Amino acid sequence: MSWRALVVVAHPDDIEFGCAGTVARWVSEGAEVTYCVVTDGSTGTQDRALMGEPLARLRREESERAAAVVGVSELSWLGYQDGYVEYDLGLRRDIARVFRRYRPHRFVVSDPGSTFEDRFINHPDHRAVGQASLDVTLTAGTTPGHFPELLEEGLEPWRGLREVWIAGPETNPVAVDISEFVEAKIEALLCHRSQVGEDAEGISERIRQWTSEQGAAHGLAHAETFQVIAQGPGFHPEEQLEDTGADLARAPQDPRAAGMKPQE
Ligand SMILES: [Zn+2]
Repeated sequence: MSWRALVVVAHPDDIEFGCAGTVARWVSEGAEVTYCVVTDGSTGTQDRALMGEPLARLRREESERAAAVVGVSELSWLGYQDGYVEYDLGLRRDIARVFRRYRPHRFVVSDPGSTFEDRFINHPDHRAVGQASLDVTLTAGTTPGHFPELLEEGLEPWRGLREVWIAGPETNPVAVDISEFVEAKIEALLCHRSQVGEDAEGISERIRQWTSEQGAAHGLAHAETFQVIAQGPGFHPEEQLEDTGADLARAPQDPRAAGMKPQE
């Protein structure tokens, strides 16, 4: 049986920028991967004729095509307005609902930090969604007393989570070797034409450059990096990996087994 990963992000193109190469690799290894996009992407343009509903519709199509490139067919949309996400209990509940529905063994989330190195200010939607996603693993995703209305919806707490993967931070990076999947990542990213524009060659070159820089510190041709927090076995001792043969929680300790390399 396969193991499952759930990726939760704020914006329709966040996955392709951050972790689509890793997703392509996991799918090729037999994982079942689901995406959840919290916002509708409706403000991601300088074009006033496009912003709003027309852009939201376009971006949904772009994301579906991008997901298909790496073998993902299930996308869940929470419909928050792009740029207006605030961390509140409603956001936590909505992510918990998806978490309980898809019951991931690996949970990939956005970095909730304020900045990315010295290069970018992190988008406030990323921060809110990243923090709410992390918090779900200790509250509403795993514990029945949080949002009992989820129980009424038939969604039981999920305690089989083994690893949280925070995309992108510089803290204790684990690099996933995406050398065989960098072209798939680029093809997926180029589906977001409304965001990356027409210069496919230029974008492709920048992505290859970026993934090779991320890989260089780890002896890899191309990589995406994550902070990986292993939750088990033993974190929730009553739960077994009943439906998977994958030894997920050993991955960060034995990274080569999962195609990863720790920082040297
Ligand atoms: Zn974003």
